[in-house]
Amino acid sequence: MSYQTTNPYTGEVVKTFPTATEAEIDAAVAKADAAFRTWRSTPVAERLVVLDRVADRLEADGRECARTITLEMGKLIGEAEAEVALCVDMLRYYVRSAAEQLAPRFLPAAGYGDTDVQLIAEPQGVLYAVEPWNFPFYQVVRIGAPQLAAGNTLVLKHASNVPQSALLMERLFAEAGGPEGLIVNVFAAHDASEQILGDDRVRAVALTGSEAAGASVAVIAAKNLKKSTLELGGADAFIVLEDAELDKAVAWAVFGRHWNCGQVCCSSKRIIVVDSLYEEFVERYRAGVARLVPGDPMNPDTTLAPLSSQSAVDELAGKVRAAREAGVAVEEVGVPVPAQGAFFQPTLMTGIPVGSPTASTEFFGPVSSIFRVEDEDDAVRVANSSPFGLGGSVFSTDVRHAQRVARRLDTGMVYINQPTGVAADIPFGGVKRSGYGRELVDLGLKEFVNEKVIAVADINGRF
Ligand code: NAP
Repeated sequence: MSYQTTNPYTGEVVKTFPTATEAEIDAAVAKADAAFRTWRSTPVAERLVVLDRVADRLEADGRECARTITLEMGKLIGEAEAEVALCVDMLRYYVRSAAEQLAPRFLPAAGYGDTDVQLIAEPQGVLYAVEPWNFPFYQVVRIGAPQLAAGNTLVLKHASNVPQSALLMERLFAEAGGPEGLIVNVFAAHDASEQILGDDRVRAVALTGSEAAGASVAVIAAKNLKKSTLELGGADAFIVLEDAELDKAVAWAVFGRHWNCGQVCCSSKRIIVVDSLYEEFVERYRAGVARLVPGDPMNPDTTLAPLSSQSAVDELAGKVRAAREAGVAVEEVGVPVPAQGAFFQPTLMTGIPVGSPTASTEFFGPVSSIFRVEDEDDAVRVANSSPFGLGGSVFSTDVRHAQRVARRLDTGMVYINQPTGVAADIPFGGVKRSGYGRELVDLGLKEFVNEKVIAVADINGRF
């Protein structure tokens, strides 16, 4: 494995970086630890000034950052710009909110005065952040903004196909006027997790990625008695109820399954439609998918990007082949995708038995699994049959009806009348094999702080 920028649209290897040695990793941890020693005692308001500068800089350099994202992992340039804008929003969310969220609070406790028992949110130290390529900036800011606001620092191990994005992130934070080492990038091999999590200066790990990566890194964290949070895969249900507005549901389904070329943990991967609407929905959905325009992701007219790499294409093709061999109906849709570049032909799959390997697989690309269900109860049954529990959607013109169905879904997030969203001010995370822990808002901010109790007891009290 090596850290390399390969343009997914052209296949050209643009730049290669050497993998970090043990000594370099040790130096990276030392640097993040040194930064922590200053940062922990920097008043929250001053930390937030640094985050605000990062936001300003990102806003100013948005177009250039977006071009790096598209160059490295192939998403549409408009989506890359939106990703950078979302990062600015996340940073500013904490600039606005973190001081209040981190403020000490007094607890009412029997036998104590009103201000005797305090809960203080203290930072803990260096965190290890392992991040994926599908949102090269968003993922780093999603963990970085709250954790830096809280006073922690990060050693970042980014995905090996987005090294230039990783370096840009490191530089953005380094040049914002805080201590050097708030985010320290390492081009670490997988087995470096043993060294990093075995280091006493590193207090915990936050990983976003596949189940395999999560399980492997969480075991190492557990062995070292350190906390982990895992944001893993998903196969979000997109439920269309009988009273849904069909046209809009179809349009959102096409978007929900194909933005970022289907490579989103919370993509609408399983479209579940009640029997009465099924035929019409599928017909319109097929037509909507067929209208996608594959091409150069830097061209604003393109609506279907390449996948992130040729190996991602090969892996997805293998999963679709297995589904076909298992008897699932597989249909390729739309104009043929270009032969050059990591393109994948949009594909619809129907007739998938609930509980089968195909139904439990995450298809990371423009492959739609469509399920026909009898009614609402059946829709909930199929939705909850997945091993994943990240997000989900319910489409209905009756919001209360949709809310009732939403409560029955075993996931971390449900959006009504839209695909699962990503926003600066709404938390993100899942249950079951989608992982544990939450990122964003005050929930994410508190994941790695020490909520320390300081209680003033009465020395004359009784035992
Ligand atoms: P991946 O292979 O697990 O890679 C994610 C990160 O983990 C990369 O930095 C990768 O490094 C690292 N990694 C992989 N195996 C590792 C190991 N054994 N030890 C240490 N680090 C390891 O994930 P992917 O397939 O590229 O990304 C897509 C997956 O992430 C999907 O399942 C998607 O649903 C999930 N995801 C989840 C969320 C969420 O918030 N829930 C968000 C985005 C993506 P290398 O690049 O060096 O291999």
